[in-house]
Amino acid sequence: MKKKARKKEEASIPFVRGFRRPTPLKCARALGYEKETPPKEYDVGENFFRPIPDPKSIDDWLAQYNEEGQTYDDFLDENPWLSSRKRRGLKQKFNSAGKTIRETFPEGKIYLLPLGDFSVEPSPRFDLLIDYAEKFFQIPVRSLPAVELKQSGANAYRWVDDDEQPPLAKKRRQSARLQDVQCRIDKNSGHVQLNVDGVLKKLKGILPKDALCLIALTMFDLYDDEPDLFVAGMAGGLSRVAVFSFHRYDPTLAFSSEFWYDLWQEKRMPMKERKRLILQRSCKLLVHEAAHLLGVDHCIFYDCCMNGSGHLDEDFQQSMHLCPVDLRKLAHLCGFDVVQRYEELLLFFDRNRLADEATWVRRRLAFLNDTP
Ligand SMILES: [Zn+2]
Ligand SMILES: [Zn+2]
Repeated sequence: MKKKARKKEEASIPFVRGFRRPTPLKCARALGYEKETPPKEYDVGENFFRPIPDPKSIDDWLAQYNEEGQTYDDFLDENPWLSSRKRRGLKQKFNSAGKTIRETFPEGKIYLLPLGDFSVEPSPRFDLLIDYAEKFFQIPVRSLPAVELKQSGANAYRWVDDDEQPPLAKKRRQSARLQDVQCRIDKNSGHVQLNVDGVLKKLKGILPKDALCLIALTMFDLYDDEPDLFVAGMAGGLSRVAVFSFHRYDPTLAFSSEFWYDLWQEKRMPMKERKRLILQRSCKLLVHEAAHLLGVDHCIFYDCCMNGSGHLDEDFQQSMHLCPVDLRKLAHLCGFDVVQRYEELLLFFDRNRLADEATWVRRRLAFLNDTP
């Protein structure tokens, strides 16, 4: 018996020093309804929102980082999109009296850019990524024309559509155009990896005037500094541009259990199922990163699509849904109706055979529509 207990203790991985799973009271405070009952759309109900899970690996996000968490009130205080002063560098229509991002920036859109070829299997369909982001945020999401990348040397790719982009931010474009995007070959997999800095520089040069942000999405693997094995992506600080890769979301790529980033093995899976999983993972990453660009930080209150992740396995386990705290932040910022948003997301999940997600939303809608 003793032996068994000891074994269990050894197997459990602690949260990073200083981090404690938030209590229900702390979660209620984060939601901004500490004393009064929240409206039903933010009511946790029963069995809808799981607590933050215990770390399973020493590489897990909350085994590594002690995050404070951003409450709803923090979000209102800090969010640059809710400021009555226009953000620096924004040249689009601005209404200082606006209460939501759509009122404040009536022309504002989220732009997505296909970087490289998305017609090759098993890439997710780009129109579905746009559709999902639009339903998730309830603000306009548009695509820029795809950018073709052509190898221009052993360590570089040329951004082929440079001449076809609209004439915006000409000076920056000129200087960025002189440089190709650097690349290298990943020793473990033999795949080409693009350098994120090079991509971000290019993106700054083509940021449309009416963009709230511009996110390049690619099936290429990415890296940042030389010692990195890879990076999932990178946002350009305050510049409203970001690039993210779906390369490692292919479920037929397996990683060794000891070195999760290493040893690629091909697993067999029907293409339909492979594409379904890639779409699910890609949609989750896309809205997580777009929400960061809209000012939502990592969530420590529930199992939530705004949780941080230390590695791919942890990422895959996390929920696709927003917890009440982050739902309230985005409902405030984007000015959406929570029920209407769920109804639209349900259509997406049903159409794309994301059955677990559809079941959850259906159950949540039944809870919200059940007027006692
Ligand atoms: Zn994040
Ligand atoms: Zn959350």
